[in-house]
Amino acid sequence: QFKKSDLLHTLPTQFFASLVSKVAAIAAQGHDVINLGQGNPDLPTPDHIVKKLQTAAENPINHRYSPFRGISDLKEAACEYYKREFGVELDPNKEVAILFGGKAGLVEIPQCLLNPGDTVLVPDPGYPDYLSGVALAKGKIERMPLKEENDFLPDYRDLSRNALEQAKLLFLNYPNNPTGAIATKEFFEETVELAKKESICVVHDFAYGGIGFDGEKSVSFLQIDGAKEVGIEIYTLSKTYNMAGWRVGFAIGNESVIEAIELLQDHLYVSLFPAVQEAAAEALLASQESVEKLVKTYESRRNVFIEGLQSIGWDVKAPAGSFFAWLKVPKGYTSEEFSDYLLNHAHVAVAAGIGFGEFGEGYVRAGLLTTEERLLEAVRRIESLQMFS
Ligand code: PLP
Repeated sequence: QFKKSDLLHTLPTQFFASLVSKVAAIAAQGHDVINLGQGNPDLPTPDHIVKKLQTAAENPINHRYSPFRGISDLKEAACEYYKREFGVELDPNKEVAILFGGKAGLVEIPQCLLNPGDTVLVPDPGYPDYLSGVALAKGKIERMPLKEENDFLPDYRDLSRNALEQAKLLFLNYPNNPTGAIATKEFFEETVELAKKESICVVHDFAYGGIGFDGEKSVSFLQIDGAKEVGIEIYTLSKTYNMAGWRVGFAIGNESVIEAIELLQDHLYVSLFPAVQEAAAEALLASQESVEKLVKTYESRRNVFIEGLQSIGWDVKAPAGSFFAWLKVPKGYTSEEFSDYLLNHAHVAVAAGIGFGEFGEGYVRAGLLTTEERLLEAVRRIESLQMFS
């Protein structure tokens, strides 16, 4: 009976909600849907991390309020991880903020740094929650097209002088959701230069940081000289350690941004369950064998799926990282029409590219988040539609 606030009305519509209900409607008719539409990892958290949570959960100290800004063990583990993986030295007391998953941080940052009307440069196609955070902070969006001919990296020369002058924040995300592209060191160097020149804060979303194929290790933004002066990286344990349900991540890098995030969070929450933080520290510090295995699993799924689609005549490219394939829609369909067609006729769900922004039109996103058998079954079902032969 209560009217919602004007602010709530400014939030973008949650695109995935409509996909979820379309999938549910087809499943309710008794069909076996192969759901490649969402980005929900299907594999369990490695045992040693779960065991750490179990023992930490039994410790009564963890049943009480914990330090507001997170436990030092996790902040220290985050820094050790960055030193070991990327050779980057960071201060656990000043350069790390614990987050309730990457999403919370991404939505909080615009509220920390923007005044109403400030401009934010956002990749298009891109993860929709960048838009939510900017809407909550009453900022203005300037879209940066990610085009296939530019390897899905934004071309900063496309941005108007006005947009660059107004911009306060720049979101990037590599390995990229939805395109599966990875960034080069040179691109990040160019980004640092631009950020310095234009006084823009860079937020690099490193959600798929651990997941690169063909031996390619993803570059951390913080590996670039001067990166810490102009930005931060958002790291989450959701993907690399199959911990999406645990809601744990961290922001790392520029001290003033980290301070702003912690200040805001002081007003929002007491830090997350300390047992979860202890388990997250364990994930970062223990043997990374499970991560290597995970990457091999996704790589093998990618090969099976992409080669399968190519063998039925669909002209698709293999992603270099993340766990998504970004597939060109055949002529004559919009991305939404095509994803509806696949769902209704092959019972294969993929996400329409338009849900990631206007430059996502012409593509659909398929998650490699089921077994090779199911991916092959999806290929067979698509083949039976005889769209590509
Ligand atoms: N960033 C990107 C690009 C994502 O795809 C996701 C999750 O799907 C997230 C951030 C958020 O992950 P989480 O909130 O689970 O850490």
